[in-house]
Amino acid sequence: MEILRPDYVLTPEGVVTNTDVAVEHGCIVDLRPASRQSNYTRRLAGKIIIPGLVNAHSHAFQRAIRGGVQHMGGTSDDFWSWRTAMYGVAGALTPDTIGPISRLAFLEMALGGVTAVGEFHYVHHQANGRPYDDPNELAHRVIQAARDVGIRIALLRVTYNTSAIGIPAKPEQRRFCDVSPEASLEAVSVLSDRTDDYVRIGLAPHSIRAVPESWLRELASFEGVVHAHVAEQPAEVRQCLDALGRSPLAVFADSGLVSERFTAVHLTWPGDGDLARLAAAGGGVCVCPTTEYDLGDGIFPIQDWPGRVCVGTDSHARIDILEEARLAHTVGRAHAGRRGIGGERPAIGILQSACAGGAQSIGFESGIAVGRPADLVAVDLSSASFLGVDPLEAVAFGAGANNVTDVWVGGQEVVRDGHHAMHREIIEAAKLALAAVRA
Ligand SMILES: [Zn+2]
Repeated sequence: MEILRPDYVLTPEGVVTNTDVAVEHGCIVDLRPASRQSNYTRRLAGKIIIPGLVNAHSHAFQRAIRGGVQHMGGTSDDFWSWRTAMYGVAGALTPDTIGPISRLAFLEMALGGVTAVGEFHYVHHQANGRPYDDPNELAHRVIQAARDVGIRIALLRVTYNTSAIGIPAKPEQRRFCDVSPEASLEAVSVLSDRTDDYVRIGLAPHSIRAVPESWLRELASFEGVVHAHVAEQPAEVRQCLDALGRSPLAVFADSGLVSERFTAVHLTWPGDGDLARLAAAGGGVCVCPTTEYDLGDGIFPIQDWPGRVCVGTDSHARIDILEEARLAHTVGRAHAGRRGIGGERPAIGILQSACAGGAQSIGFESGIAVGRPADLVAVDLSSASFLGVDPLEAVAFGAGANNVTDVWVGGQEVVRDGHHAMHREIIEAAKLALAAVRA
C-alpha cells in the first residue's frame, strides 16, 4: 500500500490538512488522520494533492505544428489559413510518426498533471483516402501512445465526410472521411472491443461543416459519449443558418445527439436559445481558451452558461490545463464586465472545469474520495509566489503545469519529482517524427 502525506488534500468537501491518502490496487482506500505515530511511504512537504487534471479536447498530432504557425499570412492570417497549414502536417502523418508525436503531446500532458485525455481523432486513412489494412491502424497507434505514457485516453473517433455543408471533401481531407455513418459506427464498435479501465471510445461527429445532417440522425443511435466542434467560427454559423436555417447546436439537437452524454467543443458563437437548450439536455461545453484566442475564434460566454464546463488544449499551442480553466473563467469576467463567475467560490469552479467536468465529459471518474481511482496530482505550493495564499486559491489562480511535481494514474506513479521514466526515449523518437512530418 502507498500512503501519501502531503500538506493539503483537495477533497469534494474542500481542502483538508493532516490527512494521509492511502492507495492500493489502483484506488484510494483510505483518507485518514496523519499523525507522528502513523507510517507513510511518501512525504510531500509543501504540496497539495488534487484530483487528476483532464484534458477533454486534444488533437495530439497538432503538437507538430507548434511554433510553425504564428507567421503565415501576415495581417490576413486567421483560422482558415491556420487550418491550411495544419492540413500540411496532417497529410504527412504515417503510422510510424503519429505514435511518437502523440507520445510527445501526452508526455507533456502527464508532466503537467493530466491523467486523462479526450483525443478527438480524425486522421484515419492513408493520404490518398484508402483505408489501411487495419482501418483503425492510426487510432491504435494513438491509444498505444497514451498507454506508453501511462495516462487514460478516451479516443473520440471522428466522423467526417464533407468540406462544408453540401460540398464534397477536398483532397487534403480524404484521410479523415468515412463512406457512410454506418462505417463510422462500425469503426467505433470495433475499437470498443479493446477497451479497459484506461481506454474508452467515444463518437465525434466533427462539425456541421463535415457531417451531413442525415448522417447526424444515424449517429444518434450511439450510446456512449459524443463530442463535436460546435459554432467555433462565425463563418461556420452563417453557412449553417443559410443552408439549414438553424444554428449548429440546434442541428445537433434536432438530430437527437444532444443529451447528458454530449459535449459541445468551443461554442464560441452560440445562437439565441442554444445555451438554454444545451443546459436543459444536461450537455456540457468544452472551452479551449489558449487555442481559441490563438486562432482568433472568439470567447465562450461562460458568464451566461449554467451547465458543466470542461477544458482542453486542442491545438496544443500550450499544454497547461490549469491555465485553460483559469482563462475560461477569468476572461469570462473581462467579457462580462464583472466578477462572480464560477459559483460562490470561483476557485472551486475553476478546479471543477479542470478535473470533474472533464472526467464526466469523457467517461471517467474523478475526485479524491475512498473507492475512487487513484488519479492524483501533487502541486508544489512552496515557492515565494504562494506564500500566505490559501492553497485552493493558489492552485486555481496561480499554479500551472510547471508547479506539478508528481502524478499517479490508477495508483501508478507516472511522474515523480518532475520526471517521467520514458522521457528521453519519447523525446528522441519525437525528434525524428517531427523532422519527418515537417520535411
Ligand atoms: Zn478541436
